[in-house]
Amino acid sequence: MPEGHKTHFLAREHYDLLGGEVVKVTSPQGRFRADARQVSGRYLDSVRASGKHLFYEFDGNVIVHVHLGRYGKFRQRASPPPKPVGQVRMRMVGSNASLDLTGPTTCRVIDSELQREVMGRLGPDPLAGGKKSDVWKNISRSGKPIGALLLDQSVVAGVGNIFRAEILFEAGLDPHIPGSDLSQDSFDLLWKSLKRMMTVGLKHGKIIAVTAREAGMPLPKIPEDKRFRVYGQTECPQCDHPISTVEVAARRLYFCKHCQSCRC
Ligand SMILES: [Zn+2]
Repeated sequence: MPEGHKTHFLAREHYDLLGGEVVKVTSPQGRFRADARQVSGRYLDSVRASGKHLFYEFDGNVIVHVHLGRYGKFRQRASPPPKPVGQVRMRMVGSNASLDLTGPTTCRVIDSELQREVMGRLGPDPLAGGKKSDVWKNISRSGKPIGALLLDQSVVAGVGNIFRAEILFEAGLDPHIPGSDLSQDSFDLLWKSLKRMMTVGLKHGKIIAVTAREAGMPLPKIPEDKRFRVYGQTECPQCDHPISTVEVAARRLYFCKHCQSCRC
Protein backbone atom coordinates (compact mmCIF):
# COMPACT_ATOMS: atom_id res chain seq x y z
CA MET A 1 0.00 0.00 0.00
CA PRO A 2 1.44 3.42 -0.89
CA GLU A 3 2.45 5.33 2.22
CA GLY A 4 2.33 9.10 2.81
CA HIS A 5 5.51 9.94 0.88
CA LYS A 6 3.92 8.43 -2.23
CA THR A 7 0.66 10.38 -2.08
CA HIS A 8 2.60 13.64 -1.66
CA PHE A 9 4.89 12.62 -4.51
CA LEU A 10 1.88 11.85 -6.73
CA ALA A 11 0.15 15.13 -5.78
CA ARG A 12 3.17 17.10 -7.01
CA GLU A 13 3.62 14.99 -10.10
CA HIS A 14 -0.06 15.10 -11.06
CA TYR A 15 -0.30 18.84 -10.55
CA ASP A 16 2.74 19.29 -12.80
CA LEU A 17 1.05 17.14 -15.45
CA LEU A 18 -2.52 18.46 -15.34
CA GLY A 19 -2.74 21.40 -12.95
CA GLY A 20 -3.90 24.81 -14.10
CA GLU A 21 -5.80 23.54 -17.10
CA VAL A 22 -9.17 22.18 -18.11
CA VAL A 23 -9.23 18.41 -17.66
CA LYS A 24 -11.45 15.84 -19.32
CA VAL A 25 -12.49 13.17 -16.82
CA THR A 26 -14.06 9.85 -17.80
CA SER A 27 -14.57 6.38 -16.41
CA PRO A 28 -13.72 3.78 -19.06
CA GLN A 29 -14.73 1.01 -16.65
CA GLY A 30 -18.02 2.77 -15.84
CA ARG A 31 -18.09 2.70 -12.02
CA PHE A 32 -17.10 6.37 -11.72
CA ARG A 33 -19.11 7.59 -14.72
CA ALA A 34 -21.74 9.71 -12.94
CA ASP A 35 -19.10 11.38 -10.74
CA ALA A 36 -16.78 11.95 -13.68
CA ARG A 37 -19.49 13.98 -15.42
CA GLN A 38 -19.51 16.41 -12.47
CA VAL A 39 -15.84 17.31 -12.88
CA SER A 40 -15.11 16.80 -16.55
CA GLY A 41 -14.35 20.02 -18.42
CA ARG A 42 -13.48 21.90 -15.25
CA TYR A 43 -10.26 23.64 -14.34
CA LEU A 44 -7.93 21.71 -12.01
CA ASP A 45 -6.93 24.27 -9.36
CA SER A 46 -4.74 22.08 -7.16
CA VAL A 47 -3.82 18.56 -6.12
CA ARG A 48 -3.42 18.02 -2.43
CA ALA A 49 -2.25 15.05 -0.32
CA SER A 50 -3.17 14.43 3.27
CA GLY A 51 -1.87 11.21 4.79
CA LYS A 52 -2.76 8.50 2.29
CA HIS A 53 -5.57 10.54 0.69
CA LEU A 54 -5.40 12.52 -2.55
CA PHE A 55 -7.67 15.43 -3.43
CA TYR A 56 -7.99 16.85 -6.95
CA GLU A 57 -9.57 20.26 -6.42
CA PHE A 58 -11.52 21.59 -9.41
CA ASP A 59 -13.22 24.94 -9.83
CA GLY A 60 -16.81 25.09 -8.60
CA ASN A 61 -16.12 23.31 -5.27
CA VAL A 62 -15.92 19.82 -6.73
CA ILE A 63 -13.14 17.57 -5.59
CA VAL A 64 -12.08 14.09 -6.67
CA HIS A 65 -11.14 12.14 -3.53
CA VAL A 66 -8.85 9.15 -4.10
CA HIS A 67 -7.54 6.61 -1.62
CA LEU A 68 -5.35 4.09 -3.41
CA GLY A 69 -5.62 1.40 -0.75
CA ARG A 70 -3.70 -1.77 -1.32
CA TYR A 71 -4.26 -2.20 -5.05
CA GLY A 72 -4.84 1.30 -6.43
CA LYS A 73 -2.43 2.47 -9.07
CA PHE A 74 -2.00 5.46 -11.36
CA ARG A 75 -0.50 5.07 -14.76
CA GLN A 76 0.75 8.00 -16.77
CA ARG A 77 -0.30 8.01 -20.43
CA ALA A 78 0.14 10.29 -23.43
CA SER A 79 -2.44 12.79 -24.57
CA PRO A 80 -4.59 11.78 -26.30
CA PRO A 81 -4.35 8.48 -24.39
CA PRO A 82 -4.27 5.04 -26.02
CA LYS A 83 -6.99 2.45 -25.39
CA PRO A 84 -7.48 1.75 -21.65
CA VAL A 85 -5.69 -1.29 -20.23
CA GLY A 86 -7.50 -3.17 -17.45
CA GLN A 87 -10.28 -1.79 -15.27
CA VAL A 88 -9.64 1.95 -15.54
CA ARG A 89 -11.90 3.56 -12.92
CA MET A 90 -10.92 7.13 -13.75
CA ARG A 91 -9.13 8.69 -16.68
CA MET A 92 -7.99 12.32 -16.56
CA VAL A 93 -6.89 13.86 -19.84
CA GLY A 94 -5.02 17.15 -20.11
CA SER A 95 -3.36 18.79 -23.09
CA ASN A 96 0.02 17.12 -22.61
CA ALA A 97 -0.59 14.04 -20.49
CA SER A 98 -3.24 11.67 -19.19
CA LEU A 99 -3.62 9.62 -16.04
CA ASP A 100 -5.37 6.27 -15.66
CA LEU A 101 -6.43 5.07 -12.22
CA THR A 102 -7.08 1.39 -11.54
CA GLY A 103 -8.09 -0.49 -8.40
CA PRO A 104 -8.51 2.34 -5.84
CA THR A 105 -10.27 1.80 -2.52
CA THR A 106 -11.95 5.19 -2.90
CA CYS A 107 -12.60 7.30 -5.98
CA ARG A 108 -15.49 9.71 -5.66
CA VAL A 109 -16.52 13.32 -6.09
CA ILE A 110 -16.99 15.32 -2.90
CA ASP A 111 -17.27 18.98 -1.87
CA SER A 112 -15.02 20.99 0.46
CA GLU A 113 -17.20 20.29 3.48
CA LEU A 114 -16.80 16.53 3.10
CA GLN A 115 -13.11 17.04 2.39
CA ARG A 116 -12.72 18.84 5.72
CA GLU A 117 -14.52 15.95 7.40
CA VAL A 118 -12.13 13.38 5.87
CA MET A 119 -9.09 15.47 6.78
CA GLY A 120 -10.46 16.12 10.26
CA ARG A 121 -10.36 12.41 11.03
CA LEU A 122 -6.64 12.28 10.23
CA GLY A 123 -3.82 12.91 12.68
CA PRO A 124 -0.96 15.29 11.90
CA ASP A 125 0.77 14.60 8.57
CA PRO A 126 4.55 15.10 8.94
CA LEU A 127 4.83 15.99 5.25
CA ALA A 128 2.08 18.62 5.44
CA GLY A 129 3.31 20.61 8.42
CA GLY A 130 1.86 18.23 11.04
CA LYS A 131 3.32 19.10 14.41
CA LYS A 132 5.56 16.82 16.40
CA SER A 133 3.95 17.96 19.67
CA ASP A 134 0.49 16.93 18.41
CA VAL A 135 1.71 13.45 17.44
CA TRP A 136 3.39 13.13 20.85
CA LYS A 137 0.11 14.04 22.54
CA ASN A 138 -1.73 11.33 20.58
CA ILE A 139 0.89 8.70 21.37
CA SER A 140 1.65 9.51 24.99
CA ARG A 141 -1.96 9.32 26.12
CA SER A 142 -2.61 5.88 24.66
CA GLY A 143 -2.00 2.51 26.26
CA LYS A 144 -1.85 0.77 22.86
CA PRO A 145 1.51 -0.55 21.62
CA ILE A 146 3.59 1.91 19.64
CA GLY A 147 3.64 -0.60 16.75
CA ALA A 148 -0.15 -0.24 16.49
CA LEU A 149 -0.31 3.50 17.12
CA LEU A 150 2.02 4.27 14.21
CA LEU A 151 -0.42 2.63 11.77
CA ASP A 152 -3.44 4.46 13.21
CA GLN A 153 -4.10 7.29 10.75
CA SER A 154 -5.80 9.36 13.45
CA VAL A 155 -2.57 9.34 15.50
CA VAL A 156 -0.18 10.24 12.67
CA ALA A 157 -1.18 10.38 9.00
CA GLY A 158 0.78 8.70 6.24
CA VAL A 159 2.70 5.98 8.07
CA GLY A 160 2.24 2.50 6.62
CA ASN A 161 3.71 -0.91 7.27
CA ILE A 162 7.18 -0.24 5.83
CA PHE A 163 7.78 3.10 7.57
CA ARG A 164 6.51 1.60 10.82
CA ALA A 165 9.04 -1.24 10.78
CA GLU A 166 11.95 0.86 9.59
CA ILE A 167 11.57 3.77 12.00
CA LEU A 168 11.09 1.49 15.03
CA PHE A 169 14.24 -0.35 14.02
CA GLU A 170 16.25 2.84 13.52
CA ALA A 171 15.14 4.09 16.93
CA GLY A 172 15.91 0.68 18.53
CA LEU A 173 12.44 0.46 20.05
CA ASP A 174 10.46 -2.61 21.03
CA PRO A 175 7.22 -2.34 18.99
CA HIS A 176 5.18 -3.57 21.97
CA ILE A 177 5.86 -0.60 24.29
CA PRO A 178 2.60 1.13 25.21
CA GLY A 179 2.52 4.72 23.90
CA SER A 180 2.05 5.98 27.46
CA ASP A 181 5.32 4.28 28.54
CA LEU A 182 7.39 5.81 25.75
CA SER A 183 9.89 8.41 26.97
CA GLN A 184 10.21 11.81 25.36
CA ASP A 185 13.77 10.88 24.29
CA SER A 186 12.58 7.73 22.51
CA PHE A 187 9.80 9.67 20.80
CA ASP A 188 12.35 12.28 19.68
CA LEU A 189 14.39 9.51 18.01
CA LEU A 190 11.29 8.05 16.40
CA TRP A 191 10.16 11.42 15.05
CA LYS A 192 13.63 12.17 13.69
CA SER A 193 13.63 8.85 11.79
CA LEU A 194 10.11 9.40 10.54
CA LYS A 195 10.85 12.88 9.21
CA ARG A 196 14.08 11.76 7.57
CA MET A 197 12.60 8.68 5.89
CA MET A 198 9.42 10.42 4.74
CA THR A 199 11.38 13.35 3.31
CA VAL A 200 13.74 11.00 1.46
CA GLY A 201 10.70 9.00 0.28
CA LEU A 202 9.01 12.11 -1.07
CA LYS A 203 12.15 13.22 -2.88
CA HIS A 204 12.79 9.86 -4.54
CA GLY A 205 9.21 8.60 -4.84
CA LYS A 206 10.01 5.46 -2.84
CA ILE A 207 10.99 4.47 0.67
CA ILE A 208 14.76 4.24 1.19
CA ALA A 209 15.49 3.39 4.82
CA VAL A 210 19.25 2.94 4.53
CA THR A 211 21.58 5.92 4.20
CA ALA A 212 23.92 6.52 1.28
CA ARG A 213 26.87 5.94 3.62
CA GLU A 214 25.54 2.57 4.73
CA ALA A 215 24.80 1.49 1.18
CA GLY A 216 28.11 2.83 -0.09
CA MET A 217 26.42 4.54 -3.03
CA PRO A 218 24.14 7.53 -3.75
CA LEU A 219 20.49 6.98 -2.79
CA PRO A 220 19.08 6.85 -6.36
CA LYS A 221 21.51 4.04 -7.22
CA ILE A 222 20.52 1.72 -4.36
CA PRO A 223 19.00 -1.49 -5.81
CA GLU A 224 15.39 -2.31 -4.90
CA ASP A 225 16.35 -5.21 -2.63
CA LYS A 226 18.82 -3.12 -0.61
CA ARG A 227 16.53 -0.23 0.38
CA PHE A 228 15.29 -1.66 3.69
CA ARG A 229 17.07 -2.70 6.86
CA VAL A 230 14.36 -4.81 8.45
CA TYR A 231 11.15 -4.84 6.38
CA GLY A 232 10.89 -8.11 4.49
CA GLN A 233 14.39 -9.11 5.65
CA THR A 234 15.49 -12.36 7.25
CA GLU A 235 18.71 -11.30 8.95
CA CYS A 236 19.46 -8.17 10.98
CA PRO A 237 22.03 -5.91 9.29
CA GLN A 238 23.36 -4.81 12.70
CA CYS A 239 23.66 -8.01 14.73
CA ASP A 240 23.09 -10.85 12.21
CA HIS A 241 20.33 -12.33 14.42
CA PRO A 242 17.24 -13.53 12.54
CA ILE A 243 14.51 -10.92 12.00
CA SER A 244 11.26 -11.72 13.83
CA THR A 245 7.72 -11.08 12.65
CA VAL A 246 4.59 -10.48 14.67
CA GLU A 247 1.06 -9.33 13.79
CA VAL A 248 0.46 -5.86 15.18
CA ALA A 249 -2.70 -3.98 14.10
CA ALA A 250 -3.50 -6.77 11.63
CA ARG A 251 -0.31 -6.26 9.62
CA ARG A 252 2.93 -8.20 9.77
CA LEU A 253 5.61 -6.26 11.61
CA TYR A 254 9.30 -7.05 11.03
CA PHE A 255 11.69 -6.36 13.91
CA CYS A 256 14.93 -7.50 15.54
CA LYS A 257 14.41 -8.74 19.10
CA HIS A 258 18.07 -8.18 19.86
CA CYS A 259 18.45 -4.58 18.58
CA GLN A 260 14.94 -3.42 19.45
CA SER A 261 14.93 -4.12 23.14
CA CYS A 262 14.40 -0.59 24.44
CA ARG A 263 11.12 -0.44 26.38
CA CYS A 264 11.39 3.14 27.48
ZN1 LIG B 1 19.66 -6.81 15.34
